[in-house]
Amino acid sequence: MSYELIVGLETHVELSTKTKIFCSCPTSFGDSPNSNCCPVCLGFPGALPRLNRAVVEYAVKAGLATDCKIGRVSKMDRKNYVYPDLPKAYQISQFDRPLCYDGGMDLSSGNRIRINRIHIEEDAGKLIHTAQGVCIDYNRGGTPLIEIVTEPDFRSIEEVREYVENLRLIMRYLDVSDCKMQEGSMRCDVNISVRRKGETRFGTRTELKNMNSISFICKAIEVEYQRQIDEIEHGRPIVQETRRYVESGNYTESMRGKEDSQDYRYFREPDLPLVNVSDAEVEALAAALPELPRAKLNRYVDDFGINEKEARQIVRYPALAKYFEAMAEGVNPRQAANVMLTYVFRCFETDEQKEEGCVPVAAEELNRVLRYAAEGKLNQNALKKVVDTMLKEGKGFDAIFTLEQFQAPEIDLSALCKGIVSDNPKIVSSYLGGAEKAIGALIGQAMKATKGAVDPAAIRAAILAAIEEVRA
Ligand code: ADP
Ligand code: MG
Ligand code: ZN
Repeated sequence: MSYELIVGLETHVELSTKTKIFCSCPTSFGDSPNSNCCPVCLGFPGALPRLNRAVVEYAVKAGLATDCKIGRVSKMDRKNYVYPDLPKAYQISQFDRPLCYDGGMDLSSGNRIRINRIHIEEDAGKLIHTAQGVCIDYNRGGTPLIEIVTEPDFRSIEEVREYVENLRLIMRYLDVSDCKMQEGSMRCDVNISVRRKGETRFGTRTELKNMNSISFICKAIEVEYQRQIDEIEHGRPIVQETRRYVESGNYTESMRGKEDSQDYRYFREPDLPLVNVSDAEVEALAAALPELPRAKLNRYVDDFGINEKEARQIVRYPALAKYFEAMAEGVNPRQAANVMLTYVFRCFETDEQKEEGCVPVAAEELNRVLRYAAEGKLNQNALKKVVDTMLKEGKGFDAIFTLEQFQAPEIDLSALCKGIVSDNPKIVSSYLGGAEKAIGALIGQAMKATKGAVDPAAIRAAILAAIEEVRA
């Protein structure tokens, strides 16, 4: 019997506003525990929240970039639950009138993933389990989040991977979040069900909460999919519940029964007014959106003539894409892409380093060198050597080289090559006898004599001309 996988995702993205969503405490990560708190974010009775307008702005940008409609009036609600990470015993979120709705993302499979909604809410504190007991750090409490909820439209693990990677990249290009999954600033709740092929109704789903690595999301879906099939094949019902993925053993286990929205007793947050967004605001934010990854990729391929695979590698890293564009300014973009991928990428060992994108030499410096090459002041060999040395030493051109040292010496290339040809009759005759590679030895001699300052193609042409003359 064959089964179909059904997945829906709820993705939390921590917004990188300077201050929290309902107070002016800083949102910085890694400070000493409970140092960035106040009566509002600690939930003291009587402390009143005030909505940080930057949060609305960031969330609208995220909505526009994912094809969402923007609600001109949305509403804040209380989601009630009792847990030590939430001192108020309710989270301020949005329930039935979210800020953004009806969006979507097209995937390369041709499938469109519908985005049901994006709402704004506050994050909870963080529990830290120690040998002495549980400690709570409320610094994260009140950090602004958006939650991006899809319909159950995913049909394969590959689609999930593409969506999460793409969503993460979009948020990073928008600069609304650093989306560091390992630090928890982007995390996914993964809802999974299976059904027999041909069945039109959905099966019962389970939910894997707070997944913060794309590769673990993919592994977890795979094992949960198999587990559910196994349950069904053994005639056992799937229980709607929250499960946890155990990385070390690559299996999922039950955490608790799934709560329904009625369990949260949602009601309108009485301490906050409705959230209004004007047409003018939406238009201004839409006009100021940066170029998004898909458009950038298309431009690199269509306008720059870079092949798609290479373009993708650059677009994956916003900081490096920015560097690349500065470096490619006014020169042949394919040559710039080549320098980028062969030499600049070599400066980094890990993906994180590429994401940071700190190149030891300014983009303007490499741009200058590429201009020299375009003007014929550096040949291809010299260009490679110069770029490589600059990046290795972390210095600009002038700190290491002068242009004079690459100027071709005044030589009569034709005379030089004639001399080499007449000095090496054996090589010439084996070349003429069909051993085409023999010519390499002659070119090599000429390169040596010109100290690599002359373009190898020109040398090759001169050697061939000299051979023609001998033969004639
Ligand atoms: P809740 O708010 O109670 O978690 P929702 O109906 O809002 O429930 O759905 C939450 C997520 O679960 C959504 O991303 C949705 O796409 C997904 N989902 C709903 N039903 C299924 C299903 N049968 N299989 C897989 N995912 C599902
Ligand atoms: Mg949920
Ligand atoms: Zn505060």
